Amino acid sequence: MRFATIGVTVAVLTVGHLPSKAQDVPAATSRVIDVQWPGGDAGAAPPFLESRLSKVNQTLLPVLIPRHFLKFKTFAFVGEELHYSASVLANGAKLSISGTRIAIDPPKGSRLPPERGQQITSEAGDGTSQATKVQYRAAYKVIVECEAEWDRRCVDARYARRLLSGAHLMGGGKDAPSNASEGEAAPLPPDQPFDKDFTFSPPGELTPGSGRGVVSTTVYTPDIRFPVEAGPAYLNSQVWNIGGNYGPKGSWRDKANYRYPWHDNFCESRARRTLACPSGTGHQGVDIRPADHRDATHWAVAVENGRITDVGIYTVTLVGRSGSEYRYLHMKMNRLAVQQGASVTRGQRIGLISNDFGGTPTPVHLHFELLQNVGGRGFHHVPPYTSLVRAYQGAK
Ligand SMILES: [Zn+2]
Repeated sequence: MRFATIGVTVAVLTVGHLPSKAQDVPAATSRVIDVQWPGGDAGAAPPFLESRLSKVNQTLLPVLIPRHFLKFKTFAFVGEELHYSASVLANGAKLSISGTRIAIDPPKGSRLPPERGQQITSEAGDGTSQATKVQYRAAYKVIVECEAEWDRRCVDARYARRLLSGAHLMGGGKDAPSNASEGEAAPLPPDQPFDKDFTFSPPGELTPGSGRGVVSTTVYTPDIRFPVEAGPAYLNSQVWNIGGNYGPKGSWRDKANYRYPWHDNFCESRARRTLACPSGTGHQGVDIRPADHRDATHWAVAVENGRITDVGIYTVTLVGRSGSEYRYLHMKMNRLAVQQGASVTRGQRIGLISNDFGGTPTPVHLHFELLQNVGGRGFHHVPPYTSLVRAYQGAK
């Protein structure tokens, strides 16, 4: 069977593959612990005052920050009790470090990342590099996002590794979570599917010749909303479809690019090295076309309640109450509907889907990534395709 139909897919994706609840810590945190100093045109960065440190100390996991982050004119620390993110903008690159105590139980049938103790794992390519490690029973990660794809800080992961290994303990780290958590969210009412004519090809089945996908029906985030406000939307390859670098000649706007079935493109061939893909390199998210190719017309929205922990050069990061992290790429970055640190609710508008990607040309589309601290072994990319199929089918 090449193309699954709605009836069949409901069974495939829901029976026996629901992940269990987040491990050993409450999934919800509520106390906002932010420290920011806005950028100016001139002048030195303000010192890291005692009052700011006392705020950082409210974070329950030990807070690691590269010391030189504090010297920047613009510094943002977005924190809650169980996770934080600190970032600076440095000569065409966004440097971010984050930590979390929220570990996600591996869903049935998923592959656990290898246990590596405090050892750093890293990956790079496509204009970003990343390094992660586990320490103090928390997962820490550095992401470097570069305006220019050839920026040495993003070409390989050495710089990200150095930032992570050189990060200092700045505060935080009391042991037990307080009772500030909000508890379980109320169950959501059932919603209408985005499109009753929707069909999709199975997870891991990429466009022929475009690489090796992850063949798994595991749903890593069973409760998310679809990240585009309104349908239809088309999840398929930007590179191997019409108008793409390796696709048939033609326009990005070609109607054939705006048709079902969906095609998974997680782990599609890329130079970027990543542990998430069977071949050791590949695309770390999925690409979604909105209803048509009009720029800055269709909204990307929050997939669950949470906080905007980072606004990068062409990436916006949302950490959900569940502990999952979502990265939204290529929105119209100068017209975002949210700021770094904003609390957002499921369905709230984040930005307009566009083609911002440094200087690299790309069709109008949303690149969507999902990262989890799976089994408490560090932040890793996991396949978002099945969760998106499910969300599109009706869990709005
Ligand atoms: Zn992409």
